[in-house]
Amino acid sequence: MPARLVVSSPKTISRERGEAAVVAAAVYGLSAVELELEEDPAARFLDQVRRQVEAMRLVDALSRELPNREYYHLHITELDLYFDGYNFCFGLAMDKSAVVSTYRLKHPRPERFIERLKKEVIHEVGHMLGLKHCPNPRCVMYFSNTILDTDMKGVEPCPRCRNLLMKWP
Ligand SMILES: [Zn+2]
Ligand SMILES: [Zn+2]
Repeated sequence: MPARLVVSSPKTISRERGEAAVVAAAVYGLSAVELELEEDPAARFLDQVRRQVEAMRLVDALSRELPNREYYHLHITELDLYFDGYNFCFGLAMDKSAVVSTYRLKHPRPERFIERLKKEVIHEVGHMLGLKHCPNPRCVMYFSNTILDTDMKGVEPCPRCRNLLMKWP
């Protein structure tokens, strides 16, 4: 398993990216590197009618950019995401690539916004590390159907998910 995590985003959300990178690295014991992008790659997959980005196509493109790379890549975008039959998604992960959107995480209190972002980032990094959805609503790997689910869950994997992580080499 790679031990490195690259967290990218456009400049407009560099502070948020920094906070997310620090917490994701701490929760999973990875070393995180930040990458500031001039252009948001998500914009290339924006559906002009829906005004949303097709998350799967974006994640797929991210994984093709550097095949066989020895690190995980999480991208943070401000654009809204959707996936398959869902009206929207907070994020999506596949293999060693993932994306999280800040679009639906906004809150009048900035600390609440950051808290939500951290949870969604830790959730998607968990998927990259092999974790599946967890039935425990307090676990970060619980599937968020709505932002209320995100607010209810914690920032950390539950003991059961932690255990699964430890079993893998
Ligand atoms: Zn998930
Ligand atoms: Zn769990």
